[in-house]
Amino acid sequence: MAHQIWTADLSRRGFMAGASGLAAGAVLAGGAAGPAVAQQQGAAGVVEGPDLPNALVGRPPEVDNELRQPETRRLGWAVAGLGNFATSYQIPALGRARHSELKGLVSGNPEKAADIAARTGVPDGSVYSYETFDQIADNPEIDVVYVITPNSLHRDLVVRAFEAGKHVMVEKPMATTPEDCEAMIAARDAAGKKLMVAYRAHFEPYNLMAGTMIRDGRLGDVSFMASDHQRPLKPEDPKDQWRMKKDLAGGGSFTDIGIYSLNGVIWFMGESPAALSASVYSPPGDERFAEVEAVCSVQLRFPSGRLANLSSSYIADKKRIDVFGSAGVATLDPATEYMGNQLMLKTSAGTQEMTSDFASQEQFTREIDHLSRAIMNDTDVLTPGEMGLRDVRLIQAVYRSAAENGAWVQLNDDGTAAG
Ligand code: NAD
Repeated sequence: MAHQIWTADLSRRGFMAGASGLAAGAVLAGGAAGPAVAQQQGAAGVVEGPDLPNALVGRPPEVDNELRQPETRRLGWAVAGLGNFATSYQIPALGRARHSELKGLVSGNPEKAADIAARTGVPDGSVYSYETFDQIADNPEIDVVYVITPNSLHRDLVVRAFEAGKHVMVEKPMATTPEDCEAMIAARDAAGKKLMVAYRAHFEPYNLMAGTMIRDGRLGDVSFMASDHQRPLKPEDPKDQWRMKKDLAGGGSFTDIGIYSLNGVIWFMGESPAALSASVYSPPGDERFAEVEAVCSVQLRFPSGRLANLSSSYIADKKRIDVFGSAGVATLDPATEYMGNQLMLKTSAGTQEMTSDFASQEQFTREIDHLSRAIMNDTDVLTPGEMGLRDVRLIQAVYRSAAENGAWVQLNDDGTAAG
């Protein structure tokens, strides 16, 4: 079976095209010869500062280094699910986007929706509840619905959005079961619309740069990768409460953030795993992990024979990817934060810190505008529903292996179990 791999166009030309109007065409500071070495921490493109504030909407000045860009044509987006990620990151990003703008809201909380509508200029008539959501079909201002609800609730809204004739962006993980992903893809095909899974790392400059290095051979022969995605789960935080419930989250740390390790390593390897073995662990008596795992450890073997180790946890705080090659080791640390990611290249010549002329936090607007541009130009999306489905199948295989004491699960390259 041919390998189904989705890779960004990471040639310099592709990079430049992707950057149009954002960083004035200056993307890789090193020019055609490759990325530059930052002279010091804080050089252009390396962002320092505190975590993004949990502000509702608007343009936090310390993170928004880019004002809204002029553009003649923007698609209208409605955001469904007005929780932490939507209000702190993606609604502000829609306010800065070049090809996209916020035109609608969908929420189960009328007060919250009215408050956000007032702040963002969304008219009352474009605010929907989950009950009235289907009326969005009659709203010509809205082209795209962006679903940012708990994982198991994605399917219902995605399918209804397609039935209303809209395009869809859906958060990761795409769903909690492969069947839900397949239903979304079928609804997409029936509607003839586009479906994108919000894998923001594919639009993050240092992840893109690492991918370019790997493909350009700067690391030599890459035989092994390791990726760790861990963050503490806080039961007092509303956004973590549904994450403790298996029916809403689907799984624990691996489903929530281990997916960054899984998706990133497959992207960088350029092939889907042929087999995996996994184990999970939860500290005994810790109520947070009554339904979902705290820790997950996964070994991947690829069709080429190459290997990767992945870890996830809801206990420590770390987001890192290491790519081990015969000519160098690339380390993304942090790899997938909202801002301030870093890429180090270690070779026999020494260790270099890479820098980009566009900052990590631009991943949000670039991701959003990618879908709008794909719709306007009728081109493929880089992170389609099939990618989300593959990853959900692989997550299912991870839990199956863990339930069978780490037994190796053989895999097809669409993520289904082989044999
Ligand atoms: P959150 O709890 O802050 O937001 C979820 C929203 O869904 C809330 O507004 C909540 O009111 C609403 N909701 C509707 N029905 C609900 C129900 N039955 N139970 C609980 N909430 C319900 O969570 P979040 O962190 O914003 O995550 C939302 C989605 O975004 C998830 O799929 C998550 O994986 C994804 N996410 C992605 C990223 C990323 O970097 N791409 C980051 C965070 C979250």
